Amino acid sequence: MSAMKRRYSASDVALAQFERAIAHMNLDEDLVAYLETPKRELIVHFPVYMDDGSMKMYTGYRVHHSTVRGPTKGGIRYHPDVNLDEVRALAMWMTWKNALMNLPYGGAKGGVSVDPRELSRNELRRLTRRYANEISILISPEGDIPAPDVGTDAQVMAWIMDTYSVARGYSTPAVVTGKPLSIGGSLGRAEATGIGVTITATAMMKKLEMQPEMTRVAVQGFGNVGSVAAHKMWEQGCKIVAVSDVNGGIYNPNGLDIPALLAHMAESGTVIDFSEGDRISNRETLTAPADILIPAALEGQIDERVAPDINVRIVAEGANGPCTLEGERILLEKGVHFVPDILCNAGGVTVSYFEWVQGMQSFFWSETEILDRLERLMTEAFEHVWQASQSKHIDMRTAAYTIAIQRVVEAVEARGIYP
Ligand code: NAD
Repeated sequence: MSAMKRRYSASDVALAQFERAIAHMNLDEDLVAYLETPKRELIVHFPVYMDDGSMKMYTGYRVHHSTVRGPTKGGIRYHPDVNLDEVRALAMWMTWKNALMNLPYGGAKGGVSVDPRELSRNELRRLTRRYANEISILISPEGDIPAPDVGTDAQVMAWIMDTYSVARGYSTPAVVTGKPLSIGGSLGRAEATGIGVTITATAMMKKLEMQPEMTRVAVQGFGNVGSVAAHKMWEQGCKIVAVSDVNGGIYNPNGLDIPALLAHMAESGTVIDFSEGDRISNRETLTAPADILIPAALEGQIDERVAPDINVRIVAEGANGPCTLEGERILLEKGVHFVPDILCNAGGVTVSYFEWVQGMQSFFWSETEILDRLERLMTEAFEHVWQASQSKHIDMRTAAYTIAIQRVVEAVEARGIYP
């Protein structure tokens, strides 16, 4: 979708969601202005040598939306469309997500405008180290802790941790989360977001008395989040009828064999050409006959052009901001139940928090402890949002926002405005 055709930017969507929620709260105008403004925004332009000896300039970002509840936390994205507006929106969503989960963090996000698939491993390493160095004036274990997002992974986090540590002369594992296990990563982190999507989608299925065996699921995006969510939903007995990645989608009304699809993906790097499904477009993945849709790719995918053709009962937002304002409005009018992004995909930052705590105290927990704690926190957060939504007769996103914003407001009031 071209930026020209998009009616609202990601920041417009984030601000409109915020404004929709504060309409149900009694907040002072000055406080509203404070909450909707990012605290600091860093833009860096930096050179990277390519393998052929040429040099290319890249642009990166790190935005801190709020530091009121603690150090800032939020992922780093490598994607050609990364820009300040998008990073700003993602940072604001992190503030609300962290507050909703009651994690002691503010919100941040970062990114580099680059297609990582076009770089060699050495080019990616040089780009990452230089970007890490450029943003090292903002990141630290006590101040701002990055994590993986679209286009980045445990290896990228390891390079950032190493670059930061080399400059200090000692190892600083807690400066990033989502690291490899060998340098202080947490068990369960790689799957945490997809597991959280499954926990919250399942909680919604229970509220609607939906049985897994009778439930068809479509998943857009088959990366970190989408592939794990698809696998976990499949393990629960749901039928995964459609999945897609950036190359297109596949459809099988009888349900795809997800372990076989994961093996195919590991070999070929894409879901398409999987022999047990019919090839469909990315749009057809969103509109495939299903009961649950899990968007797990990028922002703005469900807009007013595709929403009228989506006929699911639940949209579980694995991605951040997958719906435009119009797309969401159309689906809400149809009675679709949302598990909003700041709740649905909060499993990743929750286990990142566990990883950070383990790193700070150099004491590591078992996978069972981590997954039990994740399940408890996600289930409690879901229940809290559900109750607020039912008692105030508001949609799940607005309910989640009111809880999160209230927690940030309490922190602002406790700390006061300096000087
Ligand atoms: P990823 O890079 O691992 O995977 C992204 C997937 O989306 C890939 O399969 C890619 O091919 C696909 N994709 C990209 N453009 C697409 C398009 N136009 N149509 C269909 N598929 C497309 O990224 P990820 O970490 O899985 O993140 C996905 C979403 O989840 C993002 O919105 C991200 O912000 C959000 N998220 C990620 C985490 C995390 O822990 N990784 C945590 C919270 C939220």
